[in-house]
Amino acid sequence: MKTKLINFSKYSSFKIGGSFDVALLEDDFSHISDYYLIGSCNNTLVGTNPPPLMMLSKKYDYIKIEDDVLKIGGATPSGKIASFCKKHDIANFEFVSHLPGKLGGLVYMNAGLKEFEIFNSLLTLQMPSGLKAKCQVAFGYRSTDISEPILEASFILEYGFDEDKVAMFKRMRSNQPSTPSAGSCFKNPEDDYAGRLIEEVGLKGVMRGDMCFSKEHANFLVNNKNGTFQDAMWLIDEAKRRVKEKFDISLECEIVILNRD
Ligand SMILES: Cc1cc2nc3c(=O)[nH]c(=O)nc-3n(C[C@H](O)[C@H](O)[C@H](O)COP(=O)(O)OP(=O)(O)OC[C@H]3O[C@@H](n4cnc5c(N)ncnc54)[C@H](O)[C@@H]3O)c2cc1C
Repeated sequence: MKTKLINFSKYSSFKIGGSFDVALLEDDFSHISDYYLIGSCNNTLVGTNPPPLMMLSKKYDYIKIEDDVLKIGGATPSGKIASFCKKHDIANFEFVSHLPGKLGGLVYMNAGLKEFEIFNSLLTLQMPSGLKAKCQVAFGYRSTDISEPILEASFILEYGFDEDKVAMFKRMRSNQPSTPSAGSCFKNPEDDYAGRLIEEVGLKGVMRGDMCFSKEHANFLVNNKNGTFQDAMWLIDEAKRRVKEKFDISLECEIVILNRD
């Protein structure tokens, strides 16, 4: 496979990580099990020794209406999806303008805002092993059982882009820090909030190097300038340890950590 050198301190939303070669996945799927697939690393913390990485090539960056459904390539950025839907007056994708990532990452994580999730209007997924219908995939809150690259997804085509929803999603974002992060660090445990637990164990705003759980939103691990992977991991492990000790709750990371110890 062709490769591309990527500097993760620029590419990833955390602005953490060194430069590593990333293989470009196009039509040859024979070696995919040797690599870890990334999208645009808006939900990913890249370590100092990541596994071999691959990403979909530009071939999978497209969005089109075909056979009365919306077809989106796995490498299509969320901003492009939002602009297309606005331009063509398509409903149900207003929330993606506030979710940084590529289509494959959005589907893999079942990304969303409250009850607005990418799986809501999903029809099918095209993967190297073939086409899968939505009913063949297990999915839930920020999770799916997908285990291979999503090359394309098709969605119900419904018209009526809603500007009021865009404004509502913008308001929902207003308490979130603009400092580099990867969104929510931990999944919310059942009937509770990870941010509340982090605050209760005294970690909100505590600096470790240039990293901290944000004072604005405790479940956002933020990089204030020159944060490192080690500092991020210290805070993640410390939050897990303290929350387990005080509340007997095991926090589960929502972010993906890519490092081989
Ligand atoms: C400021 C900020 C706010 C955020 N707010 C939210 C929010 O409100 N709700 C929310 O759900 N998320 C939120 N996120 C997280 C992020 O937007 C989503 O998780 C998004 O889906 C990440 O997409 P990505 O392409 O960057 O994926 P990556 O971070 O690159 O990868 C994430 C996972 O997806 C897998 N993956 C990537 N591409 C593919 C593919 N083609 N096929 C199969 N698997 C693939 C990767 O293997 C990895 O396991 C936020 C992030 C930031 C930085």
